[in-house]
Amino acid sequence: LSALPTVEINELNRPFHDGLRKGRLMLQCCPNCATKWLPARQACPRCLHADPEWTASAGLGSVRSWVVFHRAYHPYFRDRVPYNVALVRLDEGPQLLTNVLTSSQGPEIGIGARVGLRVVEQEGVHLAKFEILPGRTG
Ligand SMILES: [Zn+2]
Repeated sequence: LSALPTVEINELNRPFHDGLRKGRLMLQCCPNCATKWLPARQACPRCLHADPEWTASAGLGSVRSWVVFHRAYHPYFRDRVPYNVALVRLDEGPQLLTNVLTSSQGPEIGIGARVGLRVVEQEGVHLAKFEILPGRTG
């Protein structure tokens, strides 16, 4: 079995990965203009303030777009197809590409579906995934 494609952890994104290990989704935020964003970068994308801070997301968002991969483009995923890749917009604003965990009995993924963070450990790496929350869409 091929190894999970590696995630490079560096000084810039370390707080993001440390947060996931504790079950939290960390966002960067600007102390000057209050913009929040992902992935980590050196400066605020809006006002270029160069000393961003970190804050925990509530872990709630909605699905903006999604696709299902039926073909593995890396050997690691050969036994894992089909799987979805979804663009989730957090309630705080940032968007991330992720997977929405689904089951045959559970609600189906769809645009506008409300989702909640579910940190999943795969081979020692903690990944931010989401599960569909019951109730309203939109
Ligand atoms: Zn800013």
